[in-house]
Amino acid sequence: MNTNEIMQLSDKYVMHTYGRIAMAPVRGEGARLWDAEGREYLDFVAGIAVNSLGHCHPAVVQALQEQIDRLMHVSNLYYIESQARLAEILVENSCADKVFFCNSGAEANEGAIKLARKWAKKQHGSESYEIITAENSFHGRTLAAITATGQPKYQKDFEPLPQGFKYVPYNDLDALAKAVDLHTCAIMLEPVQGESGVRPATKEYLLGVRELCDKNGLLLIFDEVQCGLGRTGKFLAYQHYGVEPDIFTLAKALGGGFPIGAMLAKDQVAAAFAPGDHAATFGGNPLACAAGIAAMQTTIKCGILENCNQVGAYFKEKLNGLAGKYSFIKEVRGLGLMLGMELTMPGASFVNRCRERGLLINCANNNVLRFVPPLVITTADVDTAVEILDEVLQEHRA
Ligand SMILES: *Cc1c(COP(=O)(O)O)cnc(C)c1O
Repeated sequence: MNTNEIMQLSDKYVMHTYGRIAMAPVRGEGARLWDAEGREYLDFVAGIAVNSLGHCHPAVVQALQEQIDRLMHVSNLYYIESQARLAEILVENSCADKVFFCNSGAEANEGAIKLARKWAKKQHGSESYEIITAENSFHGRTLAAITATGQPKYQKDFEPLPQGFKYVPYNDLDALAKAVDLHTCAIMLEPVQGESGVRPATKEYLLGVRELCDKNGLLLIFDEVQCGLGRTGKFLAYQHYGVEPDIFTLAKALGGGFPIGAMLAKDQVAAAFAPGDHAATFGGNPLACAAGIAAMQTTIKCGILENCNQVGAYFKEKLNGLAGKYSFIKEVRGLGLMLGMELTMPGASFVNRCRERGLLINCANNNVLRFVPPLVITTADVDTAVEILDEVLQEHRA
């Protein structure tokens, strides 16, 4: 099918929940995608931080091919070897002791919210249930996740929302301290906010939040769905800050492109869940976990983090160069290969013009160009991307 045929078929039969771009990728390899007409694109969206190893990484492809012939799915009524092995990798490389597997970021956050409430009920009694989250946060699209998400635009028209959430400005420790009361059971934050336009927490903030949690017997939950798993140049973003959460969530890059999510916790917190308290039919199935093992082993052992740091620093310097050249660039920010360029105007037209020139980027929160390329990109890929971006910015100025 050509792009037009794919678009027509999709518009006719698929629910219109996405404002889609008129492009239909049909093949991918590394940092490159090809559309139905065979046009090549440099992909600096990477499935929104999903394809961190690039498209169709050979280690992930091979792991899936080997597993798919043997066993695709089996119930969590039984023990699953690949699930246990993936949990081991995640635990041995983080502050967590136990893992619950699911299929997406929203589902991982649902699990975190349920675990925090259950733990707090046991620890502090039935009046402890409230979770404080940040304004402009993003935690997913299920009902509890949009409620945790401190952005009215995601909540509008879906009321009544679940109770027990409260919002405070991000990176504002005083506001957070004032919001804590007898009902508070947890604080849930992204160490680097993604959807709000790539906003890293400050070190003082996260250190202060940890202290506040310890003083008041609250759980600290980090949503690392976007910023985790190498994206910022460390395996987990919180490792930049010297602060450990009690619970954290993963998804996006966890399966190297295959859907899988996870919610992790320290033993003392995880112990609040007993058999029957939480479940997911597909959670941690053999196929998803085979992909996860390959993706995580590659991320940890194959120089991915080093490349992310090196190429990320190079890219950020180039973006700062552009910021010096164009007055309508307000700020460049981010960590590793999770970078944002805030403009003084909407970014949609820049996204389109980059695509016409063969570069895929996207726009977060209306006016922030977001760059979350595969962590395997080279400085030559960055040069290509920056050249295209420069042309597009130049065209706007002219
Ligand atoms: C993408 C994202 C989610 C939601 O993940 P889904 O897999 O779409 O449910 C949650 N939190 C953050 C920080 C995200 O970036």
